[in-house]
Amino acid sequence: MKPIKIEKICNVINGSASGGDLGKEITGVKIDTRQIKAGDLFVALPGEKTDGHLHLKSAKEGGASAALCQQPVDPIEGLTIIQVDDTIKALQRLASYYRALFDVPVIALTGSSGKTTTKNILVEVLSQKYKTIGTRGNKNNHIGMPLMVFDMDDDTEVAVFEMGMSGFGEIETLVQIAKPDYAIITNIGTAHMEQLGSRENILKAKAEILSTLGPDQTALVNGDDPYLRQLPPGKYHACLFGLEGEDLDWTCTSYEMDAISLTMTVREKDQDQEDIYFFTLPGRHNVYNCLVGIAIGRMMGLSKEEIQTGLNAFVPMDNRMEIQTMGSRILIDDSYNANPQSMESALDVLALYKGPAPTIAILGDMLEMGPEGPDYHRKVGAYLADQGIDYLFAYGQAALYYVEGALTLGLKSDHAKYFSTRDDLLKSLLPFWRQAGVFLVKGSRGMKLDEVVKIMKEKE
Ligand code: ATP
Ligand code: MG
Repeated sequence: MKPIKIEKICNVINGSASGGDLGKEITGVKIDTRQIKAGDLFVALPGEKTDGHLHLKSAKEGGASAALCQQPVDPIEGLTIIQVDDTIKALQRLASYYRALFDVPVIALTGSSGKTTTKNILVEVLSQKYKTIGTRGNKNNHIGMPLMVFDMDDDTEVAVFEMGMSGFGEIETLVQIAKPDYAIITNIGTAHMEQLGSRENILKAKAEILSTLGPDQTALVNGDDPYLRQLPPGKYHACLFGLEGEDLDWTCTSYEMDAISLTMTVREKDQDQEDIYFFTLPGRHNVYNCLVGIAIGRMMGLSKEEIQTGLNAFVPMDNRMEIQTMGSRILIDDSYNANPQSMESALDVLALYKGPAPTIAILGDMLEMGPEGPDYHRKVGAYLADQGIDYLFAYGQAALYYVEGALTLGLKSDHAKYFSTRDDLLKSLLPFWRQAGVFLVKGSRGMKLDEVVKIMKEKE
């Protein structure tokens, strides 16, 4: 982080300071005292379980020079206390000021799924040409994203920020801080349906990411997504990516997949030439994620070779299409989350392993699907049977509809097993798990199938 004097910070956030040395420079911003380094500003967040105001002493011991507080606290020798009405808002205001110190391209991305994967691809790709910083992990909310801004430094040439939301106005706040030059929407799914009521509303909330874009700035959205297709024209440069439409700016005209990788043929609108790219993870959904990296890479002046080197550097993330061979068994751990598209995409991957050993899909509910939930589950069940998967272990409430769908397309009834509790699932699954087979585990995060994977691995 570029150093900023404490007195300047007070001006920016309209805070009143007491104690310590106002001339000192702040060189980091933290909300967790365990991560504090010398010269940091500690932001005390209110909270029922872990109120930051109770931890000022450890912040000071860790080396903090100042603390941002929103309630009266006892003075601590050598620590400047900056009082504000609302520490989260002050953090956001400071992040906005800090972002404006940099005249470098910023990329913001949101969407119902694929944000972190796409962000990591973007960071690897752009790092081939530019000093690139990106959201660490999944810090995409109203606190995490502003904190990431302070990773920008004098040598930063590009910044990539992931933005999440659970209601209206949240992405608007984030985008006012980030002021992106490129804004990306990966897709419009059904997550947060309960808070927002409809997919049209989810579209509106995600489209807030486009709200600061001007004519020299670019919106890159998924042109195969029927909701994103409904976006009204904006005053920005609009680009579409995908596999299906005629009028896309970036099209994957065909792709081939084997059990561990993708090969994609990609064409830019109005260009005759097609380029071939490889990616080290399978899954149709990853074609979309790669397309974003390829499109932004090209728009930002990278060569095809640089983009390919970036794609090669991508490191798979935990519980997302992690494929592991364990003796005569293969475990495809995609337990991080699920939606109808990625379920089908994962079943495609499982189907690539059809052979002498049985293929087994252990599927948990897809949550937050709204009134069409049963139908989405039936379709996935039918897709599974159609792909020739040998066994279904369905777990949850709506999972019963997977079984219903699978039976309609001919999966044998003794191969379609339903469990309403995790104990029952494990009781039936673990004996199976001792035999040869290819096992896919996937469900919404709330179903905690990552814990099932853990138990399977322990019982190896
Ligand atoms: P979060 O909301 O937790 O931040 P995210 O949007 O960052 O999630 P990822 O972590 O990249 O998403 O991927 C989560 C899961 O979403 C993956 O395991 C995969 O099943 C699915 N997924 C990833 N990319 C796509 C995509 N482009 N389309 C549909 N599903 C996807
Ligand atoms: Mg994420």
